[in-house]
Parts: sequence; structure tokens; C-alpha cells
Amino acid sequence: ASFKDLGLPPAVLQGLFALNFQKPSKVQEKALPLMLATPPRNMIAQSQSGTGKTAAFVTTVLSRVDFNKPDSPQALLLAPSRELARQIESVIAQIGQFVPDLGIAAAIPGGIPRGEHVKKAVVVGTPGTVMDLIRRRQFDVSHLKVFVIDEADNMLDQQGLGDQCTRVKTMLPKDIQILLFSATFPDKVMKYATAFAPSANMIKL
Ligand code: AMP
Repeated sequence: ASFKDLGLPPAVLQGLFALNFQKPSKVQEKALPLMLATPPRNMIAQSQSGTGKTAAFVTTVLSRVDFNKPDSPQALLLAPSRELARQIESVIAQIGQFVPDLGIAAAIPGGIPRGEHVKKAVVVGTPGTVMDLIRRRQFDVSHLKVFVIDEADNMLDQQGLGDQCTRVKTMLPKDIQILLFSATFPDKVMKYATAFAPSANMIKL
């Protein structure tokens, strides 16, 4: 399999090759065609860490966003910690290095000054801060197309985080594409996940 067969935007393909990603990893090979299909469908993907999950959802996000509208938030990615949010931000910047007008906002504590509006196409953050920004009307979610939760086992299982993720989701457009990624999906978490991302494609490696 080749990244070239996936119909990716040329700038995204160029970014993957610049990182010396010569061909899709297993999870990428399975998940990318499903995540990129039209009409968009939700995805629940289980794969060990180190298998290329981050690049899988980042490639999808960068392929779905319309960078002719760089001021309009179109993708939201949530992680359980600000460190992980920063790591994801850096992978987006790397794979997206050839995307003209790529803007990424870090919606983490201290990341967006109070009162300032989020005017970036891609927003990566932690659930509490994202919820605060939406409530204070600093973050217009009405044009979001894709919603990613990384480390979904952590995020959906923990009481505080799970509630925040659910609250964020209720504020998003109803037809948003939801992508849940995790190294594990214990039964209880899988129950939350299938309710959170209805009719999802599922892959397990
Ligand atoms: P992750 O599972 O997202 O933590 O990624 C694990 C590592 O694999 C990272 O260092 C990535 O840079 C690398 N990686 C991801 N996708 C590919 C690929 N298709 N080819 C080579 N390396 C990759």
C-alpha cells in the first residue's frame, strides 16, 4: 500500500514523505481509507502506542480541513494532558509543513489569552480548557467537521474527563465526524465509546 493511493491533498502527501514515512503503517493502512471516505463516518480505532496512530488521525484532519478558510475552526483534537496536546500539535505542524496557511491553536491552560478568539483551522487541546473557551464564546465550534479524541481509554473512563468530553460533544455540530483512538478499549470504555461515536467503523490491531 502507498500513501499515494489514498487521495490525500498533495501538500499532506509531501509532508508525510518529508518525514520519511514511505508507506502507511498497519493502523494507517486500515484506518485512513475508512476515515477519509465520503460520507464521513465515525471511527473507533484500537492500536498499541508506537504504531502510527497520531499520524493516522493527523493525516485525516489535515485532509478534511479547508485551508482557504484559515480563520474558521474546522477540526478539534482532545488529549488528556497539555503535554500530549503539545505533542499532537507538533505532529500536525510537521505533517502539515507544506500546507499553506496552516494554523494550529493550543487550547490548553494558558494557551489562549482571556478574551481572545480562536481563529485557527485546527484546534488541539484539553477538555476543560476547550469547554471554557466555548462557554466564553471565544471558540466558535459551528464549522467543526472532525472531532478526535486521543487516549480515549483515559479520556472516556475518568469521571471528570469523560464528563467534560461529553459536554464538549453536546456543543458541537450534530453531524461532526468523531474519531476515537486508544491503545486499549476495556469493555466498559468500549460501551462509552460506541455511545459516544455512534455507527462507528471499528478497527483493532
Ligand atoms: P505513534 O504511534 O503515533 O506514537 O507513532 C509512533 C512513531 O512512528 C512516531 O515516531 C512516528 O513518527 C512514526 N511513524 C508514524 N507513521 C509512520 C509511517 N507511516 N512510517 C514511518 N514512521 C511512522
